[in-house]
Amino acid sequence: MPSPAALTFTVRRGAKPPRHLADLSPAQRRTAVTELGEQAFRAGQLSTHYFARLVDDSAAMTDVPAGARERLVAGLLPPLLSPVRHLECDGGATRKSVWRLFDGALVESVLMRYPDRVTMCVSSQAGCGMNCPFCATGQAGLTRNLSTAEIVEQVLAGARALNRGEVPGGPGRVSHVVFMGMGEPLANYRAVLEAVRRLTDPAPDGLGLSQRHVTVSTVGLVPRMRQLTDAGLAVTLALSLHAPDDELRNELVPVNTRWPVAEVLDAAREHHARTGRRVSIEYALIRDVNDQAWRADLLARELVRRGRGWVHVNPIPLNPTPGSRWTASRPADEREFVRRLRSAGVPTTVRDTRGREIDGACGQLAATS
Ligand code: SAH
Repeated sequence: MPSPAALTFTVRRGAKPPRHLADLSPAQRRTAVTELGEQAFRAGQLSTHYFARLVDDSAAMTDVPAGARERLVAGLLPPLLSPVRHLECDGGATRKSVWRLFDGALVESVLMRYPDRVTMCVSSQAGCGMNCPFCATGQAGLTRNLSTAEIVEQVLAGARALNRGEVPGGPGRVSHVVFMGMGEPLANYRAVLEAVRRLTDPAPDGLGLSQRHVTVSTVGLVPRMRQLTDAGLAVTLALSLHAPDDELRNELVPVNTRWPVAEVLDAAREHHARTGRRVSIEYALIRDVNDQAWRADLLARELVRRGRGWVHVNPIPLNPTPGSRWTASRPADEREFVRRLRSAGVPTTVRDTRGREIDGACGQLAATS
């Protein structure tokens, strides 16, 4: 596996990604179309092609006259992601894509097909500024925030591939989106929230996913968590806790020094109270670091103290990243950790680690292409 030090791309700094249909609300699209000298109703046609029919070849937009089509596509559907490579495993059911953005920055997305769902794991930033020492993305620092359309396009690229039958299992649709790729979504709050709206607005204004099928995963930026709760979206919140005590969490998730365990758990609990959505606690099990029985008990206590039925825990064996001194817990310790949570009445599901072979599993996304 290449190390993050092998990052060999150069990024043009400062310029903004080109404006795209998916950056805009339906009203803004009509304005933009008028400014391009076309009639406002063309905005609806473009949205239908983009979100409902998943068209990416403008030649298929036969209800728009050729001249207008050219202007509209140039003005509102600029290419944002160019594929660097697609890597597959699990017989094609897991597919990682590496994308080059307009300025040379690289990001990754992962499509995971299950019998009953298709989940797209997307990046919200190029790199990440949160500096968690066990995460590959954290090692290279933050390059920049993605635009709304750069996020939406990752999902649409997966949706188009499924629609064309390119993913084994026959034609299908994206049903779930998780913001668990590169970046801290709540550090790019506005673009991420707009992306959630594009993904969940009914077609043809958006892709029409259920809000409940969108998961925003965070290190725990408390003011932003509260803002998300206030936004009133029924999205699922995933909190990357990784330790129930401040001493260890300060090390594993450095932003904990700003918003400690008690505060992030209170904010997560509040998200449940206001949205009815059960919060996921992410917990990467790291051998002899955070996987002790007493930490399982402390975690259970901290959760149960705040009520029942509001949370479930997703332990995941650490995916060791290059150069890391840490590795995954022993299976027996993992089992005991899970057993203790469950016997305290905390629903707990060990998460699978799809895509390990293609560096597409959790925390392995360090674009080294
Ligand atoms: N910044 C956000 C979302 C991206 S990371 C967040 O931290 O929640 C998605 C999940 O993968 C997080 O729970 C993160 O802690 C976890 N993760 C990162 N590196 C990992 C690794 N090496 N092994 C297992 N999980 C990891």
